[in-house]
Amino acid sequence: MKYDILLKGGTVVDPAQKLHDLRDVAILDGKIAAIEENISAREATQTVFVDGKYVTPGLVDIHAHVYDGVTTWGVKADPVCTTTGVTTIVDAGSPGWATFPGFRDYIVQPAQTHILTYVHISGIGLVYGPVGEMRELEYAQPGRVADTIMQNRDITVGVKVRQGKFQVGDNGVEPLKLAIEAAERADTAVMVHIGTGVPLPDVLKLLRPGDIVTHCFQGNGDCIIDDKGRVIPEAWSARNDGVIFDVGHGGGSFNYEVAQRAMEQGFLSDVISTDLHSGNINGPVYDLPTTLSKFLTLGLSLEEVIEKSTVAAAKAVGREEELGHLEVGTIADVAVFDLIEGEFELFDTHRTMIIANQKLQADLTIRGGKL
Ligand SMILES: [Zn+2]
Repeated sequence: MKYDILLKGGTVVDPAQKLHDLRDVAILDGKIAAIEENISAREATQTVFVDGKYVTPGLVDIHAHVYDGVTTWGVKADPVCTTTGVTTIVDAGSPGWATFPGFRDYIVQPAQTHILTYVHISGIGLVYGPVGEMRELEYAQPGRVADTIMQNRDITVGVKVRQGKFQVGDNGVEPLKLAIEAAERADTAVMVHIGTGVPLPDVLKLLRPGDIVTHCFQGNGDCIIDDKGRVIPEAWSARNDGVIFDVGHGGGSFNYEVAQRAMEQGFLSDVISTDLHSGNINGPVYDLPTTLSKFLTLGLSLEEVIEKSTVAAAKAVGREEELGHLEVGTIADVAVFDLIEGEFELFDTHRTMIIANQKLQADLTIRGGKL
């Protein structure tokens, strides 16, 4: 047999190559082997007929918390990822340098899902919900964070910091400055959580091209929208300077009204991620396809939501060479979705509901050529 697996009859949506058309996809030895209009089922050991379904690159969720058993936020990656089309999940800073070795050994190594991580600027990481991890500046040791990243390039993607009053106390943007110092030493990006109690312009003006703002549509105060509903000029100038804006839905950080107002003004997020953790996996987040369905209902196209959760997400974490697209020769990380019709009640984190008429539902998840 020429191929291991053949996905036959589906509509391939691969924004990286501007492809949205009927194609058969063949997989061999864990790689994409062919994408053609018609590949015979006789050429494959296993053929899956996916007529009426969408075939996309495996989703890349750049903000989640999977340090299960060590932090109170952590969820197990495999049960949720392997059933929702997510082939790569990025932990947004659950491990700090002090708790990092266990993350590699007990979380990354045994998982079927491809797991990457930000390293928190606080040495203790995100251990426990009520702890403000950067109320004490001595918790940050930029040199040790940089060393951890440089010694673990295969699974690290940058430095995480949370810049809300609750997390930093009276330290203002000092934790962000320490995170940037670590990122500069390790030549990597910073992901900054924006939150209430720290003026957002003070945060944005420190960011460098390629740094990521997560929770970009939070509505708790100090958000990207001013009192009159306008996107603040500092957000536009950060975007123009190459700062990346990510959704990071979370348990308290996604507001439909902020998203709608921003999107009406043309301020779309670059990336759509979940901030999936133990406090939102049973709602309102559930999983990445549900978050994508919310953006379909807010007016984005299927291509746009797939682009923001595949190629754009991979690029945001510096993995665009190998992840987020379906070209021949790349790793066979593939998702198959149904776009089901109906009436679905979808909530933001302020208990506001929208009714969706379409919902993305994963049918198959293929990671490295394995169903
Ligand atoms: Zn988070």
